[in-house]
Amino acid sequence: MNYPDTYYAAEIGDIPQKPKLERDLTVDVCVVGAGLAGLTTALELLRKGLSVVVLEAHRVGWGASGRNGGSVLVGFAESGENIIKKIGPEKAAKLHDLSRQGADYIRRQITDLNIEGALEGVGRYSAVRHGNAAAAKAQVSAANSPEDTGVVFHNHAETRKVLDTEKYHHTVFTPDGFHIQPLRYVLGLAKEIDRLGGQIFEDTKAVSLTKQAGLWQVKCALGQISAKDVVLCTSAYDFDLCPKLSRAMLPIATYVMATKPMPAQLDTAIKTNSAISDTRRSGDYYRRLKNDRLIWGGRITTRTSKPLKLAKMLQGDVLSVFPQLGKIDLTHQWAGLMGNTRHKMPLIGQVEKNLWMATAFGGHGLNTTAMAGCLIAAAIAEQDQAYRKFAAYKPVWAGGVFGRIAVQLTYWAMRFRDRMDERRAPK
Ligand SMILES: Cc1cc2nc3c(=O)[nH]c(=O)nc-3n(C[C@H](O)[C@H](O)[C@H](O)COP(=O)(O)OP(=O)(O)OC[C@H]3O[C@@H](n4cnc5c(N)ncnc54)[C@H](O)[C@@H]3O)c2cc1C
Repeated sequence: MNYPDTYYAAEIGDIPQKPKLERDLTVDVCVVGAGLAGLTTALELLRKGLSVVVLEAHRVGWGASGRNGGSVLVGFAESGENIIKKIGPEKAAKLHDLSRQGADYIRRQITDLNIEGALEGVGRYSAVRHGNAAAAKAQVSAANSPEDTGVVFHNHAETRKVLDTEKYHHTVFTPDGFHIQPLRYVLGLAKEIDRLGGQIFEDTKAVSLTKQAGLWQVKCALGQISAKDVVLCTSAYDFDLCPKLSRAMLPIATYVMATKPMPAQLDTAIKTNSAISDTRRSGDYYRRLKNDRLIWGGRITTRTSKPLKLAKMLQGDVLSVFPQLGKIDLTHQWAGLMGNTRHKMPLIGQVEKNLWMATAFGGHGLNTTAMAGCLIAAAIAEQDQAYRKFAAYKPVWAGGVFGRIAVQLTYWAMRFRDRMDERRAPK
């Protein structure tokens, strides 16, 4: 079993396979899914002295966690504005603060665990593609909290010195965002889990979940785990284990490509190693790596297979912003699934007694998986109640196939509205 053909996996090379589960084991906690939610939860549980097994159907970081855009930002997939509307400003500020702690956690692990090659750059430009300054500022303030410091607004002329495109009318630079090689970070966490005595099994799909004599039994093809607590971190890749979570889960695909090194071409267009994303309702996200490759992501669909013309589609997106790049040679292009909910907030808490969920982080999963892992580990090991701050966001039915159709239609409508805004707004 191997990794998808991404730039991240290719630049690392051989990644030794971990064993399959081929016996029965009893531990304090069984974590299902070795993405960032599962690994962070497992690592924090081990640090608190519990025994932990992690079950992974494929490879560690095989899901979204090892193939994402790598931008670590504060906040959630849902806008700050809508969170305030739902739970009020005070509670919303607490969630925002937790999401910031998630971003800080990643930075700290990279330093403390000395995860080589994981930190790739700092700072983020948020690019606004229309000239409506009031709308732009509203969008930016909805995405950031008032405590975000050092935020700099660049007008069109200033922006062009860094990002030479007609398309961006302004950019907002946030210094505390950073970006990572996600698979290196994932593998760094897994290495620390190994060092602390946690057991990770790859190619080991959890196929059923039952309770016997007060212990959860997690059954796999060749072995079974008995544990007092189970944490489900399976995101958009499982629809069988827990019906309550499955019905709340909306899988959404998004796409990324990586180019060959192209320093001279990039010097004409992208003169920064900070990450960039645009504020459209369904925008592009990209970054220039230190080795002068471009990693570019964008688009969402509700189809779960890779589109046939993916490379062409993404190349077209790049050239529509930076036509001066000319011919772009790709080395890799890939798709990945994000777990989403109807309310666009993650599911963090208990499904039932001793059965925990840390899932559905959407396109904002780097900081929030870290945050959720810390919250759930503290809840299990220390009966900490901070996870209840997410109680307003329950696993509500995502609408099944109709939900997916609705998401696709909403996405098309969003793209249409974005294009209209860009046309209508004054320069
Ligand atoms: C292309 C792409 C770009 C993105 N870009 C960004 C970005 O720039 N910034 C950002 O913050 N977020 C981004 N995201 C979102 C972010 O990557 C995710 O929200 C986050 O990684 C989710 O982590 P997770 O641990 O919940 O799920 P995943 O990483 O998907 O892990 C779930 C794991 O569970 C395993 N699993 C499922 N079922 C079972 C089972 N029954 N038994 C055992 N194992 C099972 C799967 O194999 C998988 O490895 C992006 C996502 C994608 C797809």
